[in-house]
Amino acid sequence: MRYQSARMDRIPPYMFAELGKKKAAMIKSGIDVIDLGIGDPDLPTPEHIVEKLVEEARKPENLRYPNFSGHPEFRRAVAEFYRREYAIDLDPETEVLALIGSKEGLAHLAPAMIDPGEYVLVPDPCYPPYRMAALLAGGMYHDMPMVKENGFLPDFKEIPEEVLEKARLMFLNYPGNPTAAVADGDFFQKAVDFAKDKGILIAHDSAYNKVAFRGFKPPSILEANGAKEVAVEFGTLSKTYCMTGWRIGYVVGNREAIRALSVFKSNTDTGVFTPIQLAGAHALLSDQACVDKYNDIYFARMKGMVGALREIGIEVDQPKATFFIWAPVPAGFTSAGFVEAVLEQAGVIVTPGSAFGPSGEGYFRISLSVPNERLDEAIGRIKKKIKI
Ligand SMILES: *Cc1c(COP(=O)(O)O)cnc(C)c1O
Repeated sequence: MRYQSARMDRIPPYMFAELGKKKAAMIKSGIDVIDLGIGDPDLPTPEHIVEKLVEEARKPENLRYPNFSGHPEFRRAVAEFYRREYAIDLDPETEVLALIGSKEGLAHLAPAMIDPGEYVLVPDPCYPPYRMAALLAGGMYHDMPMVKENGFLPDFKEIPEEVLEKARLMFLNYPGNPTAAVADGDFFQKAVDFAKDKGILIAHDSAYNKVAFRGFKPPSILEANGAKEVAVEFGTLSKTYCMTGWRIGYVVGNREAIRALSVFKSNTDTGVFTPIQLAGAHALLSDQACVDKYNDIYFARMKGMVGALREIGIEVDQPKATFFIWAPVPAGFTSAGFVEAVLEQAGVIVTPGSAFGPSGEGYFRISLSVPNERLDEAIGRIKKKIKI
């Protein structure tokens, strides 16, 4: 007996594992390691959201099994958020589904949409769960390479015909992790038209839809004409309101896809703790000043780090959104080699671009999710210690 399925054989070991081991060893030997690897904001969830959770958690009726597709109040709040932010109308009953964090929904969408032997199109580089979801569903993935010259937007014309014939699902993600690239309405319209022509469902991951700077407002793919016929959009409260540990997100758009995912989920999980959903609804509908405040903090950090990188000769653009910097490694280094050098010379952890897919080779990602003092320390060390 072998206690692993053939499907699991295709899932590689966790990519951050090696780096994690090295970090543990360095900390043990007394080195002060600063971790700019993980994308988990250090800032606290705003107080009014926490208060709402506590208030709702005191009500016994909120402690029973939650509603499968999401509390009506949470779904209405998501619909209201779309009306307020994008002037898009959503039916909370059929076009909004609550998720246990958006990662959960992104991963479960693959088995709800594709059959073994079918393809999922993924941006390359991308958030790793898109690829793993395809494999866990018994399907295959096809990388759509993205390069700087193209603004890190995929070129749909490059997808081979034999892949397109078996493609059912395409992931997109703007503002993007890891590239911090943004897309405009024209690109989304092109994607929607392409998906309609080829019979593909688009899953747009908008995790950073509100993490944007200086008046830049990332568009929703649902603003494109005909988008609801071929697209769903995932969102999360994790990044906007610093609620990564709470596990609450949503998916909106195409009702057929949402129904299939909802049936899948109702057979595998039982929804999100009701007080978390009600606090989430409160976050979406109450004063958004906390969001601006946090974005100002990320923007200031961004400026500091971009400046430091330029000072040591690494040319990067100032991102318009996300809390990531996607930077080219200096000449002569591989992604992995440079990441190792930064860790050894400066005690700073950054993520090798190659961890996000083959087109990430030649880049590294910095996540600005540590307190300002730690970031300043990291900036100081990078300026002083990195020899390239
Ligand atoms: C952080 C992140 C997510 C996951 O968000 P959760 O809602 O916390 O699961 C999804 N997509 C991208 C691109 C992310 O960076």
